[in-house]
Amino acid sequence: MKTFHCGDIIPGCAASFTAADDDGILVQTRRHAVEAHGAAEPGSGSDVLVLPEIRTR
Ligand SMILES: [Zn+2]
Repeated sequence: MKTFHCGDIIPGCAASFTAADDDGILVQTRRHAVEAHGAAEPGSGSDVLVLPEIRTR
């Protein structure tokens, strides 16, 4: 299982995401980047920040 905590890259953000694989995380974080952090559509610019911080448990 993969998890990502947005607060690891955006201090103060409490959002966290869980998915079976990295792609499942990115689908959620792209949307979150756009809706919560004002990233440009489709939010994939956040991938480079998110990927190194995805944790496997
Ligand atoms: Zn966030």
